[in-house]
Amino acid sequence: MGSGKVTSTSEPSDFQGKRVVVAGLGVSGVPAAKVLHARGAIVTVVNDGDDARAREQAAELEALGITVRLGDGATLPEGTELIVTAPGWKPDKPLFLAAGKAGVPVWGDVELAWRLRGPDAAPWLAVTGTNGKTTTVQMLASILEAAGLRTAAVGNIGVSLLDAVLGEERYDVLAVELSSYQLHWAPSLRAHSAAVLNLAPDHLDWHGSMEAYAADKGRIYEGNRVACVYNVADKLTEELVREADVEEGCRAVGFTLGTPGLSQLGVVDGVLVDRAFVENRHKNAQELAEVGDVNPPAPHNIANALAAAALARAFGVPATAVRDGLRAFRPDAHRIAHVADIDSVAYVDDSKATNTHAAEASLASYESIVWIAGGLAKGATFDELVTKSARRLRGAVLIGADRALIREALARHAPEVPVVDLDRTDTEAMVQAVTEAKRLAQPGDTVLLAPACASMDMFTNYNQRGDAFAAAVRELEA
Ligand code: ADP
Repeated sequence: MGSGKVTSTSEPSDFQGKRVVVAGLGVSGVPAAKVLHARGAIVTVVNDGDDARAREQAAELEALGITVRLGDGATLPEGTELIVTAPGWKPDKPLFLAAGKAGVPVWGDVELAWRLRGPDAAPWLAVTGTNGKTTTVQMLASILEAAGLRTAAVGNIGVSLLDAVLGEERYDVLAVELSSYQLHWAPSLRAHSAAVLNLAPDHLDWHGSMEAYAADKGRIYEGNRVACVYNVADKLTEELVREADVEEGCRAVGFTLGTPGLSQLGVVDGVLVDRAFVENRHKNAQELAEVGDVNPPAPHNIANALAAAALARAFGVPATAVRDGLRAFRPDAHRIAHVADIDSVAYVDDSKATNTHAAEASLASYESIVWIAGGLAKGATFDELVTKSARRLRGAVLIGADRALIREALARHAPEVPVVDLDRTDTEAMVQAVTEAKRLAQPGDTVLLAPACASMDMFTNYNQRGDAFAAAVRELEA
């Protein structure tokens, strides 16, 4: 972990007369174009698509005097001085290659918000990771609120950073969720403190390689002032801290599900404990909360709570607020949501477990499971997941397009586990999946929807998949 090299970026940039290209309409593009236009920039929006929705958005912007080019997101307009891109746009797009050649900087929505925030703007406590971001940021916001601070959970989650930074509301501090895409396009972001929760291969087609993905995640630590929070169980996150250039005095703080070492937060006898932000940390530790205060108290979620607590403590929040904030926290839907208990079998919806890393955490939370899995594998393999989880499986019910991949992994590593393979993708498929799961389950078991796959082969999104599961469970009850 080096220090120095931190340039001051707190001056809001001057856009008067600047030729700015906004790449991509949509959630971040439209507000970005409007803000830049209002600040005197000469804005051209380029967009690959040319559908009805795009035309509607284009008409709205054109009415303000903004130029919009539909169906051509590849060509760099003459004289462009800056590109502000939607975070999802891939770095190898011709537009960016042209920008690179011409020396034109590219910012994402986060970079824009960072540059536009006022001189006495609220500091950012930032969170990234392959899984657990939303949960951690919401826990963090809940803790900060419990400490009486004006705050919001923003970023890659509900409220956009631009809205948070430019809106009427005054904040003391922001709890910011950042995706790897957003970090890729945010070169000058400097958080007060930041956490990388975990790193597993994901979105590699976008980033090009695991190294590039990790490097983008690692940018969150650049210029941190107080603490770089890493996961003791995930060496890669610690390496990223070591590689970051931070402000003088910024500390590396680990979180662990085990007994915390010096400068760590961890768990001792069912209590969340801080050995980082205490006086005389060589001798002392501060109790923060009970494991039972974490909702739900699954291992990965306790890790999320520790990361949130570390960031809050880095901001000077007292221990009681950590406890109160964790108690007040309610997880979002479809994240280990307990749906019902029927005949002593629990039915749990973790439809948000859309990759193998998330599903592994989910399966590790229960002892005896009938697992409902499958969907779109997005190039994933299932051997590791099945090997690690095999001893917990009472049975498996497989759905969706890529279910054969899971079936084969089960046959290889857990041949004794009974498997029901559902060869249908209609809307009633989930009803049958739940019925089959009920048949396999025994009292004390958990029927767990943790698909390890994306949902779009059968459902609009993971929300709809989770809703279908919950509805099917309720049918069982009726
Ligand atoms: P994200 O915003 O990163 O997608 P969420 O908080 O929405 O993360 O959680 C997504 C899913 O990831 C959860 O449903 C759960 O299955 C899994 N998960 C949550 N936290 C962790 C963690 N710390 N490690 C591994 N998996 C996790």
